[in-house]
Amino acid sequence: MATAPDTVTPLDDVSAFLGSEHGLFIDGDWRAGRSTDRINVFNPATGETIATVVNANAQDVDDAVRSAHAAFEAGVWSALPPAERERRLLKFADLVEQNAEQLAQIETLNQGKSINISRYVDIGGAPSYMRYIAGLTTKVTGETFDVSIAAIPGGRYNASTRREPIGVVGAISPWNFPMMIGLWKIMPALAAGCTVVLKPSEITPLTSIRLVELGKEAGIPDGVLNLVTGDGKTGKALVDHPLVSKITFTGSTATGKAIARSAADRMLRTSLELGGKNPAIFLADAPIEMAVQGAILGGFFNNGQVCAASSRLYVARAIYEPFVKALSEAVNGMAIGPGLDPAAQINPVVSAAHRQKILDHVSQARHDGARIVAGGDSPDRPGFYVRPTVVVDAGSELAISRQEVFGPLVTVTPFDSEDDAIRLANDSDMGLAASLWTNNLKKTMELTPRIKAGTVWVNCHNLIDPNMPFGGFKESGIGRDFGVRSLDSYMEVKSVCIAY
Ligand code: NAD
Repeated sequence: MATAPDTVTPLDDVSAFLGSEHGLFIDGDWRAGRSTDRINVFNPATGETIATVVNANAQDVDDAVRSAHAAFEAGVWSALPPAERERRLLKFADLVEQNAEQLAQIETLNQGKSINISRYVDIGGAPSYMRYIAGLTTKVTGETFDVSIAAIPGGRYNASTRREPIGVVGAISPWNFPMMIGLWKIMPALAAGCTVVLKPSEITPLTSIRLVELGKEAGIPDGVLNLVTGDGKTGKALVDHPLVSKITFTGSTATGKAIARSAADRMLRTSLELGGKNPAIFLADAPIEMAVQGAILGGFFNNGQVCAASSRLYVARAIYEPFVKALSEAVNGMAIGPGLDPAAQINPVVSAAHRQKILDHVSQARHDGARIVAGGDSPDRPGFYVRPTVVVDAGSELAISRQEVFGPLVTVTPFDSEDDAIRLANDSDMGLAASLWTNNLKKTMELTPRIKAGTVWVNCHNLIDPNMPFGGFKESGIGRDFGVRSLDSYMEVKSVCIAY
């Protein structure tokens, strides 16, 4: 297959990085790891192995957690003045910015996504996010209180709260935005004064490996930021380690539930950012062109491998037929190609197993009586591609309407009234995000509060910002990332009461 003329050629230092040995980052240094098990890392555009990483075992996790625990107890990070921690975290952001092209290329080669997304979202968005969180390091405050019930008649009390870092944080990230979501975990943990063991997805560990090196260069002390690579068993060993005080997890609802069950035994603090089956509602006044562009951005951005992807489209009956026609035509016209080709709009999904999972969803939908009006198969080329797919006639009881596919696939369903649209949109176990498409202000104000989702976008979708809390209702998770309260879940509140 001929290479498109604008296809990006990997930098020399990307090739050198991929060819190097990748170990575990513990106590400020690379170690081979005690485990002899290795995991192959693939380029989804070709199916070729591009790197090999350690599948860390419980002893490796213990080494990393003990390093983080010793650093926490010694106060090498939390006892630094907040302004000094902030300075080093800002330097960390600068280093990510300076290494952006290398990181973006590694992300695309490992995850499969468009180089445009790696450059402008995953890596390009990282420094702003990092600087926002770094700035919170110097904004941690407590409160003072008057007390009403004095134990001793005439006694006088000074009561206040302090916020203290929680301890060792286990950070477990998924494969869809590997470095970006890793940063959503390690940055607030570090800004709060915690120490961290990061475990990226076994499918996409590479940018996290580079990231911890940059952290060291930025002056994050040895033992404060550690990295173990490995699969679900490595993650479970981190969750079960008694010296871990908090798990911050982004991934599937099934894994989130397993973590919550393990956490219950020892009241382990958890933040869980989980899956989505997100609705987009298009009212009758939404211009077709805007609606179709919105549906493509919401449903097919990053090949639909987005927790907030709008995978269920509900369209007013009056515009349903022209919408389906225009969406199918637009989707059939999307250029398919490797992530390193900036002109390709649909890129491979992350793995062969994930491609098969998506195709199984399509087969099941057909079997259940839904109709595929665009895509529904894999193009005949190397790599893990799935054609962008539009499904109609999928009742809300069908698996395709209820389960997260996490691929380039949307269902489109007509509605007859706005009550109907809200009922359909809310008919889900999940509640991560939703969008409403209309220029009618009154309807926007009336319908937005009725949608059960952690984020409701109006005339946009997938827009996230460090200043805007993000997280799920229902089975989409517990807790919120982002916003001025980002550090709260990495800190304990201690009340101090002084009699005088
Ligand atoms: P996953 O649950 O399979 O894996 C996520 C991480 O958990 C990986 O690092 C994995 O190795 C680890 N893991 C697996 N089993 C574990 C266990 N028993 N204990 C501890 N760790 C374990 O998810 P994925 O397939 O990597 O990611 C896709 C999912 O993530 C989708 O469901 C998507 O919606 C969700 N997601 C959510 C958000 C959000 O902010 N809500 C963002 C991105 C992705």
